[in-house]
Amino acid sequence: MRVLVVEDDALLGDAIQAGLRQHGFVADWVRDGAAADRAIGDGAFAAVVLDLGLPRRNGLEVLARLRARKDAVPVLILTARDTVEDRIGGLDAGADDYLVKPFDMGELAARLRALSRRAAGSPSPALRVGVLSLDPATREVRWRGEPCALSRKEFALLHAFMRRPGAVLTRAQLEEALYGWGEEVESNAVEVHLHHLRRKLDPGVVQTLRGVGYVMPRELA
Ligand code: CA
Repeated sequence: MRVLVVEDDALLGDAIQAGLRQHGFVADWVRDGAAADRAIGDGAFAAVVLDLGLPRRNGLEVLARLRARKDAVPVLILTARDTVEDRIGGLDAGADDYLVKPFDMGELAARLRALSRRAAGSPSPALRVGVLSLDPATREVRWRGEPCALSRKEFALLHAFMRRPGAVLTRAQLEEALYGWGEEVESNAVEVHLHHLRRKLDPGVVQTLRGVGYVMPRELA
């Protein structure tokens, strides 16, 4: 799951990015509101962690602009002061959740997983497609009830498909789910990880639509 962190405080931004990576997220970080606007416009992020006090456009403006564009990406705002007005303002502007600084990194990770679940229309923690289940919190994957050990990238790839079964995903979309900025994308990475997923789970877990993209069937049996 790829998350954008928007935070102008260098120490805090660095700590959030590192903490989220430790919790298994792909995390990118920008330091001002204008950069956040541009990054969110790419549509590559499953959620946004948004500080409110930012240079070059404050967090509430960033939020208002992205909701005005009908962008439904889940947004968790970080408020520096524990004031009711800040939280009300943020939620009214279209935020989905908030945390008051200082916060616990484990709680931030759990709240982001919950937002992603709700955005995917899935109320229970584990995602399920037929005989396949994936729990983002425990990082456990089961095929017909049997646990499967997946690498970090294999898990991220499978998660991207399970969030949208039946949807065709392009190679570029999958690469965006797998890699943060500055990470080198190996040219055949998607195919290699897919090969491993099919071998570890089932050959039919993801289908290749030649020249179009890849799709996980809505039903896996
Ligand atoms: Ca700030």
